[in-house]
Amino acid sequence: MSALIELRGVVKDYPAQHRSAAPTRAVDRVDLTIERGEIFAVIGYSGAGKSTLVRLINALEPVSEGQVVVDGVDVARLGERELRTVRRGIGMVFQQFNLLESRTVWGNLAFPLVVAGVPRAEQQRRISDLLHFVGLADKAHAHVSDLSGGQKQRVGIARALATDPPLLLADEATSALDPDTTREILDLLARVNRELGTTIVLITHEMGAVRRIADRVAVMEHGRVVEVGSARDVFTRPEHPVTRRFVGTVVDLEPAPEALAAIRERHPGRLLRLDVEAAGGQQAVFAALHRHELGFELVHGGIEEVRGHTFGALTLAVTGGDEAVDAVLAELDGTLTEVGR
Ligand code: ADP
Repeated sequence: MSALIELRGVVKDYPAQHRSAAPTRAVDRVDLTIERGEIFAVIGYSGAGKSTLVRLINALEPVSEGQVVVDGVDVARLGERELRTVRRGIGMVFQQFNLLESRTVWGNLAFPLVVAGVPRAEQQRRISDLLHFVGLADKAHAHVSDLSGGQKQRVGIARALATDPPLLLADEATSALDPDTTREILDLLARVNRELGTTIVLITHEMGAVRRIADRVAVMEHGRVVEVGSARDVFTRPEHPVTRRFVGTVVDLEPAPEALAAIRERHPGRLLRLDVEAAGGQQAVFAALHRHELGFELVHGGIEEVRGHTFGALTLAVTGGDEAVDAVLAELDGTLTEVGR
């Protein structure tokens, strides 16, 4: 793999709105490398700087400091004409679709091809291929306004792919869709990546989207990238508190304080957390509990899958002597930890 996009020390400041106010630092010293052929997610809460990052990558706005290098070229050095070429290599997919609502599906797909000066016969072939690819071959002459949200986003993706760009930037592409449609669209994006080799940057505030298709993920907060890694590592070993909160939205690792209080009322014994991802962890834990004649009940937990890797945590309410519990904890340090003590 080689880098398709490199951000080096990127800063974006917006001028103050009022004379007394400070300027807004929307992106703060971001270093990121996005490899060719990967699905790279950028996740963060609203205001974290994700959309600004998108506008810097597609060169719609200049950086205040640092470099944005796309395909080996620092975009700050380019003139308007060369920038248009860079932008043509980036397909955009938006939350609100941004389609021409009164036109047909065909008309929407023809638009970028006409702009790119693609000959008419070639346009026809390309549109037909794209419609088959996104599963809308029977909707070519439907008006966009008659389509469902999921169908509109399929058109959005087909349009973004029309000129065969090496990079697709999907900015909250599933945020306006219901959960089932979200999964369909994410699976379509994964297929675009797999079958066409398109690099995808997925901007999202939904960790479920990251879990479903991302290879790697960067977590943003206050304009900074606070954590970056493979989706698998970020899910199984989140380090930053913001990352932990995002992971917590898709897998219930530990009971929340209220749930913990309710569990404690029902179970006076000690509570242990079993981390499921540790290799051979479960068997070793259950064998050790048995050996030390400890009983247990599963009182909380969640197990999930990320890119072929199982992870999660279970909370056990243990019955038996304190000494035996201490012995098991010492024996299984790392797999088993005490909850809230
Ligand atoms: P996100 O996409 O993660 O919600 P944004 O990139 O939209 O975050 O915003 C990051 C910060 O930059 C916010 O504080 C936002 O108010 C500010 N911001 C974004 N665009 C502008 C702009 N054009 N002018 C002034 N401030 C902006």
